[in-house]
Amino acid sequence: MAEAVGGFEGELTLGFDVFSRWNVPKHPTLPPPASYIRGGSEEDRMTTRGYCLCQKTSWSYVGDQTWTCYCHCDDCRRNCAAPVVAWFGVPKKSFEWTGDTPRTYESSKGVFRHFCGTCGSPIGFEADHYPGGMHLYAASLERPEDFKPTFHVNKQSKLPWLQMTDDLDAFEGTLLHSPNDPDGYQ
Ligand SMILES: [Zn+2]
Ligand SMILES: [Zn+2]
Repeated sequence: MAEAVGGFEGELTLGFDVFSRWNVPKHPTLPPPASYIRGGSEEDRMTTRGYCLCQKTSWSYVGDQTWTCYCHCDDCRRNCAAPVVAWFGVPKKSFEWTGDTPRTYESSKGVFRHFCGTCGSPIGFEADHYPGGMHLYAASLERPEDFKPTFHVNKQSKLPWLQMTDDLDAFEGTLLHSPNDPDGYQ
């Protein structure tokens, strides 16, 4: 059942009712790729997947995320054309590309940003200074709503008009300057 919005109980509801009430067309989001239909195996339950806008570039990893954060740096912001970027890291040994091989842009020396060669969606990041790690954009998760950011980095670059009300720790500088430095992704 749809959840009532405070103060408008019985009048305004969240969910698909909102679309029908004002005849707003639903965003034509594609369903997840057919290859994502889950089996019941233990490995399937441990596997997390993600994909780009056109779904040609996709990835999966088995196990846990190493860290999760928001980055406010100008490079991430411009790469995604978004005011802030949510990221997480996984050990590269538990990660694989499962669709088309992404294209890669070296945004600064030793820093590699992966993106879909068809639709252009930013999708991942590797850097020589984070050996053994793959960084993934949380918005590319199959279920981005399940993501739980735990801290901010590069807070000195946060846009002044971006309103964020969480009480997470926020650090100046990159992940390397936070206590969450992944230290080899073991
Ligand atoms: Zn794509
Ligand atoms: Zn960044």
